Parts: sequence; C-alpha cells; structure tokens
Amino acid sequence: MPILIVEDEPKAGDYLRKGLQESGYVADLARNGPDGLNLALERDYELIVLDVMLPQMDGWTVLQKLRERKDTPVLFLTARDDVVDRVKGLELGADDYLVKPFAFAELLARIKTLMRRGPVREAEVIHLADLEIDVLKRRVTRGGARIDLTAKEFALLHLLAKRQGEVMSRSQIASQVWDMNFDSDTNVVDVAIRRLRAKIDDPYAVKLVHTVRGMGYLMELRE
Ligand code: CA
Repeated sequence: MPILIVEDEPKAGDYLRKGLQESGYVADLARNGPDGLNLALERDYELIVLDVMLPQMDGWTVLQKLRERKDTPVLFLTARDDVVDRVKGLELGADDYLVKPFAFAELLARIKTLMRRGPVREAEVIHLADLEIDVLKRRVTRGGARIDLTAKEFALLHLLAKRQGEVMSRSQIASQVWDMNFDSDTNVVDVAIRRLRAKIDDPYAVKLVHTVRGMGYLMELRE
C-alpha cells in the first residue's frame, strides 16, 4: 500500500516523494490540507506523513477529520520542537512526530517502525446500522436512544461489534469476555447473548446479533 505525503513546500514535498520512491515505496503527494484529507479518505494508505503548517486546512484539522473515519497511521511534521505541539498531535491521534529539519534517514526509520506496528488504535466509536457504541464513554445508543448495559453485556457487545461480520465461537466469547475457559458449559454465553438481545435487538425491527448454528454468534447488518 502507498504512503501519502501532505506537504505544501514544493521542494520539500518533491524531495520526500522522490526519497521514498527511491527507497522502494509508492508515494502520493498532496500540496494542501483539503487535497490531503480527500486522498487520505478515498484511498487506503499504509501511512501518512503530514505537515502541520498547511494552506487552507492545517495539519491538525486534517488529522482530526481523518480520525473521525480512519485509523491510518500518521507521522506528523512540526517546525518547532514544542511540547504543546507534540502533545496536541498525539492527542488528536497522530502516531509519531518529527521536528523539521530532519535527516531523511531519520524519517525512513520512523516510517519503518510505524509500518511494523500498523494501526493499533481501536475505533473509539463503533457503528452498525443505527447502533452506536462509544467505547471510551461506554455509551450505547440505538436510533439515538440510550441503552443501559451491564459491564459484561457491554464487553460482549463490544467484542461482537468490533469483530462484526466474523463468527465468534462460544468458547472464544467466553475466554475474551469472562477471561475463562468454558470447555463444557458455554450456556453462560447463550444466557448473556439472550440478555443482550433483549436490550439491543428485540425492541427493533432490524436484528444485528445472529446465531450461526453449530458455530457461535456474529453481529452484522443483513439487508
Ligand atoms: Ca508547511
């Protein structure tokens, strides 16, 4: 997958793109914030090198808007070695930063590290149809209406929702939600699923939790 460079200074941008290409990467270059954001949302990049000072839309805004939709790793470039800038970038969801001017070898080393790591951050808000799970706030709504869940019910829902479309066996669910192995008695999972369904599915026309006979459960939107 390619790397996206968002850098408005023509020489710096061309130099970075050329350097990455010579190092064997495919690299796209955007020269302002809106173009960078559009490309980042449209295409799947392995990594984004994002300058902070950009015309039309600054790097902070690009990063913030990107994070509403995608977890692509971001290495941001800042002109000042300022702790406020660094903290701001990391809080907005940047994965690493580099202070200008930097040696190209340094950039390359950071890129390699980030690529090895991959996107590790979990989505903070998971959506499935009209169900919304705010993972940090532990808040669940469906069609905008608040649903109160117990801690275990939330853990179960979170697990199924973040692996949506994937069948989870009873023993997988048991080990991840209860941190136990239920080799023989996975009834506890069935009971918990029934309780969860009563809250998030039964009152609604569109069902999201599905039983896969002989295998387990999965969450998905079935048209
Ligand atoms: Ca700049």
